[in-house]
Amino acid sequence: MRFRGELDPLRPYKPPRMSLEAAAEHVGPGGSPDSYVKLTSNELSFGPLPEAETAMREALPRLNRYPDRNAYSLREAVSEANPGIEPQNVLVGNGSSEILLNVLQLVERPGEVLFPWPTFGLYASISAILGLEVKKVPLTERHEIKPEALLSAVSKETRAVILCNPNNPTGTYLTLDEVRSFAEILPENVLLILDEAYHEFAADPAYGGSHALTLERPNVVTVRTFSKAHGLAGLRVGYGLAPEVIADYAERVRFPFSVNLAAQAAAVASMRARDKIRGRAEFIVRERERIQQAFADADLTYVPSQGNFVLVQTEPQVFEKAGVLVREGESLGYPGWSRVTVGNAQENDRLLGALS
Ligand code: PLP
Repeated sequence: MRFRGELDPLRPYKPPRMSLEAAAEHVGPGGSPDSYVKLTSNELSFGPLPEAETAMREALPRLNRYPDRNAYSLREAVSEANPGIEPQNVLVGNGSSEILLNVLQLVERPGEVLFPWPTFGLYASISAILGLEVKKVPLTERHEIKPEALLSAVSKETRAVILCNPNNPTGTYLTLDEVRSFAEILPENVLLILDEAYHEFAADPAYGGSHALTLERPNVVTVRTFSKAHGLAGLRVGYGLAPEVIADYAERVRFPFSVNLAAQAAAVASMRARDKIRGRAEFIVRERERIQQAFADADLTYVPSQGNFVLVQTEPQVFEKAGVLVREGESLGYPGWSRVTVGNAQENDRLLGALS
């Protein structure tokens, strides 16, 4: 059989210390003193909210039935949390990964997808899978997205621009005004995808509010997830905000029932308890400051972050020796660096213990 050539460079993601990561997952948050702590994947170190656990438990006896194929309660909970957004503006998916796939499936081919680089690696894989070309625009020396550079890279082949905001793996970000100015200049026939997987951890008040942008412009989609601040990565559920016509088309290409029954129940409960999620995110922001201060005190170069992770210029082995697994910068476009997820207080103590 002959395979599509553009699939040849794709490889399933295999981190170098996968078996150690699997072992660390087994032990659970904190672990015992001789086990590894896993700060590799920007997950939350706390479990789901009790409200989400209860909702899931209550859903279990109904698992013989298919879930609501429209995930209506979830769309409603998301619309309640975002002023002006109606359920018909909400996208849902099996993680935000599926939503990224769905919206990129909507654009015409051939064509290219443009994004800053380094950023989240999935954008390049999805584009290749869909037969779209990739155009990468380097971040600045300060690891920041440069909107003007992106705009000048837009061509008549450009079908979509993806802004990861805050950006993974750097944690740098654009304010809402910067995104709005960018969106105003971008041609309306180019889809602008704002990946806000880490939006709950952005502490600058000038950051928030992209839901308004998706109502102002016909070509802007915001994509978010329950995998990070909501602590539900294992359930696979994400959501998006978009003009109604984009949400309608995204629903046409979504796999039927892609958001399972337990995931819908937990996500609704977690969204309705978002004050608690905010409290957890505030804790992570305080711990992020503590970690950054410790890096500064140790004379390490790091990138000030608005995510639940910090990119620091030191080899992952430094942390591994202290029993802490972090993401090797090599796989993220930052050889010699490490991306450390902000964990719970005990995990962060261990991380910082590696510096002494
Ligand atoms: N977007 C960004 C920027 C991410 O870092 C991740 C996961 O790490 C995702 C999307 C995918 O998240 P999920 O599919 O779990 O919602």
